[in-house]
This record gives sequence, structure tokens and C-alpha cells, in this order.
Amino acid sequence: MSDRRIIDEPVVREQIQILRRILQQNIIEDENGIAVENDRKKKPPDLMVSPVDPDARYGAKSVSKKFTGYKANITQEVKSQIITNIEPSRGNRRDGEPTVDLVKSQTAIGLLPSKLIGDSAYGDGVWREALDKHGTKLVAPYKAKTPRTLAVFPKSAFTINRAYNTLKCPAGAVAKPHFYETQKNSYSFHFPQSACGKCKLKPLCTNAREGRRTVRIFDWQEATCESERYNRTDEFKHDMKLRQPIEGKFSEMKRYHGLTRAKYRGLKKVGLQFYFTAAAVNVKRWLHLSFDGAWANAAA
Ligand code: SF4
Repeated sequence: MSDRRIIDEPVVREQIQILRRILQQNIIEDENGIAVENDRKKKPPDLMVSPVDPDARYGAKSVSKKFTGYKANITQEVKSQIITNIEPSRGNRRDGEPTVDLVKSQTAIGLLPSKLIGDSAYGDGVWREALDKHGTKLVAPYKAKTPRTLAVFPKSAFTINRAYNTLKCPAGAVAKPHFYETQKNSYSFHFPQSACGKCKLKPLCTNAREGRRTVRIFDWQEATCESERYNRTDEFKHDMKLRQPIEGKFSEMKRYHGLTRAKYRGLKKVGLQFYFTAAAVNVKRWLHLSFDGAWANAAA
């Protein structure tokens, strides 16, 4: 076969496209026309990292724990500890992102949870609202607030009026939105300097240089404010304790069933590995519950 015909083969063309994309994302020409590696911060967020596995991505468990590949997203019933759903996602996808789809797809087989308990990575308001609409309450801690936001009134201290599109502050001043930021799905409310300037609550409300409070209100703000309230209750503390077995399940899947390493390439095949692994640990759990007569306890 001639070189030209080889290049025209679909599979070869696809490989060329992948290599081109990786090169374009990583290599640039400097001012002298010499190829150099692109600055890390200038590389695109969805960086393709492997020509042999185009679905793999760089990911991070923490600042120091980095990896290349995929994430396993699982839901587990708290009493029986049976895995009810598992899906792969690329390593760079945010932890909470697949949550809504996970719950929706298991609902199709009659497993609609009244609550879904996750860690702070799952606590984003957009997912809280989406799950609320679906009939599931998302229980998760907030990401740590900065010293600056901790020092002032939280957003839940403000009253949102969607009908009139206004925001009332704890001192009773009312602001109209300054603008709507489509990319962030939020309105920015700037309280008037005339009100903030003479307000007795100002030391508790803002330390901004311009001398007035600005509040960003997201489309899902009510869901966030409601969970801020819920997260102060004893019920929330109780719920969070129920989450602990899920870490044990991850540990079991990684230590004894090879989930630390993707055996295949591509999301679909990695997904198959995840399904088989989940099935194996579920069978083990089912046997344990059956032979130890523990189903009755799990169902209680
Ligand atoms: S500082 Fe401004 S926004 Fe804050 S409570 Fe006072 S008037 Fe309201």
C-alpha cells in the first residue's frame, strides 16, 4: 500500500488528528521560530495526555497527589453497603459533576435515594438544585470559606426576591442587580454606598475598599442557602457519619480488585472494568450479608 493510501485510512487519519492536537496543545513556536514547550498555565484545561488513550486526562486527588487516567464515581446504599451505580469519568472532571447523572440512571431501575451523601467536592449548589428537583437531597459539607468570606454576613443572611429580582440585606437595604454573568449563571448585587456608608452593621458585612457590600447570587442560590442551614443541624452530622463506609469500599476495590490501575484504554472499556469490579465486591457483600444473617440488620 502506498504512503498516500495509508494516510487516507480512517484509523490513521484519526491517529494523526490526535497527535496533531497533542502537539498543538503542548508545543509552540518562540519568537525565533523554534519549537518549545508551551507554558503549563497556558495549556488548555482539557489537555489530551496520551496518543494511545485519548480519553485519559491528568487529575489530582490533592495538591500533592496527581495521577493520569480516570476517576470512578460510585453510589452506595449506606446500610447494606451495596454499590448501586458506578461510572467512569476522565481524570480532570470535577468529582461532583457525574453525580446527577448517576442518580438519574439508577432511578430508572427504581433506586431513587431520598438523600445522597458526599464530601465537600460534591457540595456545589448547581448539583444540589438539580438533585432537589429530582427528589434527592444532597448532603455535603461546604468547601472551606476564605477568612474574608468567613468574616462577613453569609449570603443566607440576605433575602432573595426572584419575582422583583431584588436582594435585601440584614439592615433592610434593597439592591437591584448590577448585571447578569451568563458564564457564571449569577447576578451581582451592589448595595448603595448611601446605605452602607452609614450602616451600623457594616463591620460585620463588608471590608471592601469601595465601602459597600457586593453579593453574587447564583441561579441555584436558594438551594445553597437551604443547605447552609441544614449543615448546622444534628441531622447533618448524623448523615455525614453514614458516609464513612464508602471510603472502605473504595479501598477494597483498589487494594483487592485492581481499581488502582486502568486495565484498558478508553472510557467505555474502563467503564467495563469498573462494572465488573463493582459486581465482584457486591457479590462478596451479598454473600457476607447472607451467610452472616446480616440482611435483616441491613434492612432495619
Ligand atoms: S453594610 Fe450595606 S449591605 Fe451590609 S448590612 Fe449594612 S447596608 Fe446592608
